[in-house]
Amino acid sequence: MTTAEKTSFTVLRAETPPVPALPPFGQFIGGKFVPSTSGETADVVNPATEEVLTQVPAGTAEDVDAAVAAAVAAKASWAATTPRDRSAVLLKIADIIEKNREVFETLESANTGKPAAVAEDDISSAIDTFRFSAGAARAFSTLGADDYAENHTSVIHREPVGVVGVITPWNYPLLMAAWKIAPVLGAGNTLVLKPSEQTPLATLKLAELIADEVPAGVVNIVTGPGRVVGNRLSEHPGVDLVAITGSVGSGQKVAASAAASVKRVHLELGGKAPVVVFDDADLEAAAKGVRSAGFWNGGQECGAACRVLVHESVAEKFTELLVREISEITVGTPGAGDAEIGSMISKAHYERVLAALEDVRKDGHTIAVGGNAIEGQGYFIEPTVVTNVPAGAPITSNEIFGPVVSVETFSTDEEAVTRANETIYGLAASVWTKDSARSLTVPRRLDFGTVWVNSHLVIATEMPWGGFKGSGYGRDLSSYALDDFSRTKHVMYNRG
Ligand code: NAD
Repeated sequence: MTTAEKTSFTVLRAETPPVPALPPFGQFIGGKFVPSTSGETADVVNPATEEVLTQVPAGTAEDVDAAVAAAVAAKASWAATTPRDRSAVLLKIADIIEKNREVFETLESANTGKPAAVAEDDISSAIDTFRFSAGAARAFSTLGADDYAENHTSVIHREPVGVVGVITPWNYPLLMAAWKIAPVLGAGNTLVLKPSEQTPLATLKLAELIADEVPAGVVNIVTGPGRVVGNRLSEHPGVDLVAITGSVGSGQKVAASAAASVKRVHLELGGKAPVVVFDDADLEAAAKGVRSAGFWNGGQECGAACRVLVHESVAEKFTELLVREISEITVGTPGAGDAEIGSMISKAHYERVLAALEDVRKDGHTIAVGGNAIEGQGYFIEPTVVTNVPAGAPITSNEIFGPVVSVETFSTDEEAVTRANETIYGLAASVWTKDSARSLTVPRRLDFGTVWVNSHLVIATEMPWGGFKGSGYGRDLSSYALDDFSRTKHVMYNRG
């Protein structure tokens, strides 16, 4: 049976802040905005108001070819710059974003419907990513030279890969671009980036503002659909590595297209993060943790704390605490100061999340709070907690990517670990316990690229972010990203 305790979430509505100067219309190729070879355009929509903000070119394979040609032409001279010079450019980009942070925050909120607090965090993290990569690029080195064969001295050079194709998602448009642009440039590569068709504005704005600081052709941006622009980037013989942050399905397509030219692939894909709450956990802290990490960015977050596994002996108490927390969440438009969550990114995604909630009902789970669309303008959905979820139910493994958290129970530690690992994803997980032995052993047995203990979704720029299994195998952030975007070359000198 479905019982909804609270169905009366409303949207706090504030006047939409004026959208700052939009980026120029066109593709950013060879250091300037140029017309697309396509006469077609795509609408860019504010999902909190359903208004069309502007149009961008619906780009073509020929646009990608022109951008790749520009990136190839710039490749040798950018690769020849010293780490210090590249670092200076990255620091300059960080300064430009910081100086224009209000412009970026407003653009991001207008283009995604996210609350101001989330947009502020995104922009701060983007700035930090450029500053970190600027430092890491200078500290990046290989093993020292030495002799491993008689009369021969070995030297390892760290080289850029060449031209990197980057494909980004819509949930954190500028931040996901920053996670790639900073290490890709820091390691000495040039790039062609395709932003999500829903959210190209902040990335195009960045291109406009950094055009005078980055040599022409080093950064190129082509807007357009994934199946056209993204696919051409993936298959293009002039692209040496393609990196995508997106869904598993898109990652599979990119990897398949990349196979023809045997190019390297860097995949940051979806997630379904388990939150394992043991009987000795601080239940209040765990419930608050799920409130913030399960609903951050409206749950449109690859590491979202969306699948709770709680010990059966504390399940009732924990669920009560969680439902109380989630009932208090405020939903609002970006201008509404107190709003914790905003709208879904698009009509299509809103409909996908509502269809997933329909499935929850059909599967006979309990909707303890929320579960519905919120009436009125914009693509808003109530923060939702689903209980009465048995092992193996579809909601335990399907990524909903919205404000929906499910709760399952377990009876032994062994079962908790086995069930948490029963997912195609392997991006992130958390463990909530006061027991020091559990806090050491359980994370080691979980098959996820990041495991938090008594926390969830705290990201450190210095630490790697990336998944296992279906979540892909790229590493963003940290010096491991510089590793991923470079190649080693062994040169051996015969001293005999
Ligand atoms: P998506 O897969 O629909 O789109 C991502 C990007 O891929 C877009 O730019 C899109 O145009 C492009 N694309 C789509 N089909 C393509 C194709 N055939 N060839 C090349 N490119 C193609 O994902 P989304 O809906 O924008 O973002 C949400 C997804 O991203 C979720 O699954 C989420 O978990 C994942 N994500 C992962 C991380 C991470 O760090 N692992 C971070 C953010 C988002």
